[in-house]
Amino acid sequence: MSLILPIIAAVVGFIVAFFLHKKQVGVNLLLAFSGAFLLSVTVLEFLPSIYASNVSNIGLYILIGLLLQIILEYLSGGAEHGHLHQDKQTKSFPWVLFLSLSIHALLEGIPLHHNHHLLLAVVIHKIPIAIIIASFLFQTRLSTFKIGLFLLIFALMTPLGSFLQQNYTVFDTYSAYLNAVVIGIFLHVSTTILFESSRDHKFNLSKFGMILLGISIALLI
Ligand SMILES: [Zn+2]
Ligand SMILES: [Zn+2]
Repeated sequence: MSLILPIIAAVVGFIVAFFLHKKQVGVNLLLAFSGAFLLSVTVLEFLPSIYASNVSNIGLYILIGLLLQIILEYLSGGAEHGHLHQDKQTKSFPWVLFLSLSIHALLEGIPLHHNHHLLLAVVIHKIPIAIIIASFLFQTRLSTFKIGLFLLIFALMTPLGSFLQQNYTVFDTYSAYLNAVVIGIFLHVSTTILFESSRDHKFNLSKFGMILLGISIALLI
């Protein structure tokens, strides 16, 4: 089941993007909700479980994950947290964007097997991101084949991360470190989403409401 849900989330995002064409307010609200929910589940459940594992210097790996995500966002232009600054006129395959998104998506699949709340948070986080990436690709001059290939491989990366974790013992051996790196990634992505959802620090009631909703649901489940 944990393999299928992230694929469904990505496909839902692609379909919405295909029919939506222009960027809409709904995506931003969903983004704010998903960021708050992902941050809450990370802080309430995932982070304490990592410290409870009593692995020494585990905090260092959280910081490494944070730095890794900063580098990935330089390369992707911020696609993991919901916006893109890429050349729309390009006809060549956007390799840098593709690779940075794929590394991010693969890593976030690793801890999902035993964490059902986290799986839910990642699935919800994936929908607005998939919408934004797909609507960007539909606006470029890339061929339909290249767009399809990009979206297909992107959709498979998170389930691949879960699959590798379940089937290769090397991932089990280093699971505490890998999970810590993923926590750093989630902390950076989710706080950046919340930071950017308050543009110019103007109070936005609907976004703030979505953030409160995301936190409340994480507290209740
Ligand atoms: Zn940004
Ligand atoms: Zn992500």
